[in-house]
Amino acid sequence: MSKKTYNDYYQDETFRAKRLEYMAEKVTCECGTVCSRVNLPRHQRTGIHDRRLEKSANIAVIQQNIVEMEKKIDKIQRDIDASKKRIKRAQK
Ligand SMILES: [Zn+2]
Repeated sequence: MSKKTYNDYYQDETFRAKRLEYMAEKVTCECGTVCSRVNLPRHQRTGIHDRRLEKSANIAVIQQNIVEMEKKIDKIQRDIDASKKRIKRAQK
């Protein structure tokens, strides 16, 4: 008996249903795009994927910069408050 081919398997209703379900399954790419699981590798070779990843990397860098600037602002504000207290004490 010869080896079963894909077409032979595809004649089986259970196999076909499972296969179609797998083909229709949606996944979310790391770039945020929703696409079918079977098309994910193809999507990941596109410029859309590259640009979206680059954009989110840029956003992450900007967010990190904001966090660091906020820390500096907090420190400056504490220094200002301390200086004001020293002036008040000196004026008494
Ligand atoms: Zn992607």
